[in-house]
Amino acid sequence: MNPDQNKKVQFSIVWVLVAMLVVFAIQYFLTGMKVDLPYSEFKAAVTQHKVQDLALAATTIQGTLATNNGDAVFKTNRVDDPGLIALLEANGIRYTGVAQNTFLGSIISWVLPLLVMFALWNLVMTRMGAGGPGVLSIGKSKARVFVDTNANKITFADVAGIDEAKEELTEVVEFLKTPKRFEELGGRIPRGVLLVGAPGTGKTLLARAVAGEAGVPFFNISGSEFVEMFVGVGAARVRDLFAQAAAKSPCIIFIDELDALGKARGYSPMGGYDEREQTLNQLLTEMDGFDTRKGVIIMGATNRPEILDPALLRPGRFDRQVVVDRPDLVGREAILNVHIKGVKLAPEVDLKTIARRTPGFVGADLANIINEAALLAARRRKHDVGMAEFSEAIDRVVAGLEKKKRLINPREKKVVAYHEAGHAVVAQCLGSADAVQKISIVPRGIAALGYTIQLPTEDRYLVMKKELEDRLASLLGGRVAEEVFFNDISTGAQNDLSRATDVARAMVKEYGMSSMGLASYERPHNPFLKGDAWMPNEKEYSEKTAAEIDAEVTRILDKAYKSAKSVLEGKRDKVEALAALLLEKEVVEREEFLKVVACESPAAQEG
Ligand code: ADP
Ligand code: ZN
Repeated sequence: MNPDQNKKVQFSIVWVLVAMLVVFAIQYFLTGMKVDLPYSEFKAAVTQHKVQDLALAATTIQGTLATNNGDAVFKTNRVDDPGLIALLEANGIRYTGVAQNTFLGSIISWVLPLLVMFALWNLVMTRMGAGGPGVLSIGKSKARVFVDTNANKITFADVAGIDEAKEELTEVVEFLKTPKRFEELGGRIPRGVLLVGAPGTGKTLLARAVAGEAGVPFFNISGSEFVEMFVGVGAARVRDLFAQAAAKSPCIIFIDELDALGKARGYSPMGGYDEREQTLNQLLTEMDGFDTRKGVIIMGATNRPEILDPALLRPGRFDRQVVVDRPDLVGREAILNVHIKGVKLAPEVDLKTIARRTPGFVGADLANIINEAALLAARRRKHDVGMAEFSEAIDRVVAGLEKKKRLINPREKKVVAYHEAGHAVVAQCLGSADAVQKISIVPRGIAALGYTIQLPTEDRYLVMKKELEDRLASLLGGRVAEEVFFNDISTGAQNDLSRATDVARAMVKEYGMSSMGLASYERPHNPFLKGDAWMPNEKEYSEKTAAEIDAEVTRILDKAYKSAKSVLEGKRDKVEALAALLLEKEVVEREEFLKVVACESPAAQEG
């Protein structure tokens, strides 16, 4: 909460207190000075001629009462007494009837509690950080708008090391610059772009650079800021955000942490329909209803695309996904170069060395290192930042990241390199597996420490049994390489093993490619029901058959394992060379890979 809001909260507390005081004062004035008389004493006073000027209301009687020390105003509650008027007349006492004055009473009993509640509600709202002037702004979006002037403009030049992502976004820049022309040419107008990548890889920076390049306003809001306690508030904010954006088009809306708002809808334990779901629905509606010609591009960022609601990824919504990877060696050097501007370096500083020492670091970490090093140099009263400062800064950042489990240590890195080399060499040397495109040991996401991308060389509709077997062998190649080169195995193969098991199971149950014969043990899935926990696929075979299937799956996996092992043992030197290359460069593309691992297998040479 900012100090401004704090003042507002105190302000309304004061008002509530003042209002209460006023009410008490009025009540005191109205009731406090009267003598309350029991009805019997009142009647006695009538007969003694001690009362005067009576005002008879429906439930009370007021008047003046003569007491020992002067006249006083008195009040008594009426009882059902039909003889009263006769008594008053008999004693010659002046009386008037009054209509009950209900006006003040109703103010006190109705309006005031309302006022108090309103004040309290206002106070709570301000406290909750709805922002703006209290209750009236609760549905306003809190997006920060940047209209970058030339002085602080962020452009693509400020973003380094993620060239592929940059390239994919140039089209968006083109569109924002001249939406009209883009449309005349018949270009398919992008609407939503999802940036996927680990924290600190520069997603926000990239989105701002797109706005800067195109010279359009940039609305920045985090998905978590839509999520509020009160139903409807988030949805109102979404509406407001889009209305604001429409007024400023062409522009970019950037929603950071999209997953906070766009988690897959499910049954919430509190009932089917909750606040977040309503907010998400509003976002979907706004995205659909948006006229793309207005030139508003919605960019979202997440590091967990897998938990997003599938509806968000449908055509016309966030249908374009741009992966913002962790930078490799070359990329890290480029990022260092961007951030080194304005820092005075000692002549011995070599950015390439720093880049080599920081595998797994993202842009934010690298910016952090340079900042730390500069601070260290200042503390040491040096005139420039030397390699010693950089070393120390790296050590500090590494320690911090290791605590956060975001870095892999050198030994793990070596295991990952051999693991990935194992996949690639088996795939290449068995020939019929898909061709290796790229191998990387730059960690990606939480689960994958490295990856090998294999793509089929042509579009395929049929897969032969031999190909499936080779695919299995290359899936197991990672695990086998760990075994062959380290005499030990790691947990890193978990995903490989589950994928291999799926393939083997399909070979037995669906494709009739085992000694179980031609029977199909699996009906085609209903794609709409698949995966629903409450409606599992029914098993249509006996327990005995199930056991046979399991045995058969194991046998197929075993065979693949043996074939992977025989390849890797025969090509030890190649695996070692490839692993060494990976450790040095972190990413190896197809051409370089082929130079190291040229297999004699006929299929491999042509692919
Ligand atoms: P994300 O949105 O992916 O979490 P940010 O865009 O907020 O990451 O990055 C934080 C900071 O790290 C940026 O402001 C910038 O200084 C630095 N940074 C991150 N990635 C890069 C990059 N690729 N090039 C230059 N600087 C970067
Ligand atoms: Zn693997």
